[in-house]
Amino acid sequence: MDSPVHRGSCFCGNVSYSVSGSPILSAYCHCTLCQRLNSAAFIHTLHFPSSVFKWTHSEPHEGLLDSFSVLTRPWKTRWRCKNCGCTVASHNSKTDKWSVWGGQLERDWDGKMKGWDVLQPTAHIFYETRMLDVGDSLGKWTGYEGLSNRIG
Ligand SMILES: [Zn+2]
Ligand SMILES: [Zn+2]
Repeated sequence: MDSPVHRGSCFCGNVSYSVSGSPILSAYCHCTLCQRLNSAAFIHTLHFPSSVFKWTHSEPHEGLLDSFSVLTRPWKTRWRCKNCGCTVASHNSKTDKWSVWGGQLERDWDGKMKGWDVLQPTAHIFYETRMLDVGDSLGKWTGYEGLSNRIG
């Protein structure tokens, strides 16, 4: 059986990637790092194994990308488009996983994320540092889903 392929890109479209299959994790993250790096209350983050992540823009891929990491997480390399400045993915060398973000994944004509059945978030994580309460039915966790305390 073929795994579904999911595609994402930066704001200007110069940089793009694909991942396939089901994410290892799909959640709304309320951690302060996500809040500060994205200037957002929370973001939809998805983790995939390294083996299913591919850059899909023209080669050499690095030519269109800048990489950086924050001081407290040197094992995480974040990649952004040199043209529009949009961060599109981050690689964790400790776990060999890639993180991508829901807002940058392909949409249908009606604006819904393609592959929602497979990609939709299953939880709110790092919910203690939330900037607003979310009244949906997903579980609310102090850290990762199933590995921390459930508080909602
Ligand atoms: Zn761009
Ligand atoms: Zn986070």
